[in-house]
Amino acid sequence: MLNFVLFGPPGAGKGTQSQKLIDRYQLIHISTGDLFRAHITNQSPLGKQVSALIADGQLVPDEITIAMLEEEVDKNPEAKGFIFDGFPRTVAQAAALDEFLESKDSSIAVVIALDVDQVELTKRIAERQKLTNRVDDHADKLQKRIDEYFSKTVHVLPYYEAQDKLRKVNGIGQIDEIFAELCEVLDKY
Ligand code: AMP
Repeated sequence: MLNFVLFGPPGAGKGTQSQKLIDRYQLIHISTGDLFRAHITNQSPLGKQVSALIADGQLVPDEITIAMLEEEVDKNPEAKGFIFDGFPRTVAQAAALDEFLESKDSSIAVVIALDVDQVELTKRIAERQKLTNRVDDHADKLQKRIDEYFSKTVHVLPYYEAQDKLRKVNGIGQIDEIFAELCEVLDKY
């Protein structure tokens, strides 16, 4: 199994690149943000539980997120591997993912961090607000999501660095150029 994590702050281009990576590597793409949004749309009990937090730009508690992620992985026993997008976002989630994959004799092969500086992020976010229909993409909520990233999620990077699994890819430039760089890393696995 090839499992990897696509990592980066809101606006880094994870969604765009994930689509292209799915086509190329035929792995199962799991975006915890997409899963939560589907629960909210379907008004499931989980959706009702998390909708206010998500609308406010806060992280959903680890326990809930980890349980949902594990359930999704277990729905795909035949998968050649997984692209984790938007997960893990805390060190506790990263540790839980390692433990979970280990129980399946598997692991994370590599974590690719899309590197985008704050100035570029702010620019992209301003653009995205014009096009979005996401309640959490409006200025103050988006700022909160970026704050959550820099207060909680960045700590996931040293976690993977210590395992020598972190690879940084410049997330600024043409979509196809960035994709080519991602493929260069992933083709090694
Ligand atoms: P995203 O689409 O990845 O930007 O996620 C949208 C929102 O879903 C986030 O702002 C969080 O509220 C929630 N969310 C998604 N993934 C996670 C996660 N791994 N841990 C906690 N909350 C998450």
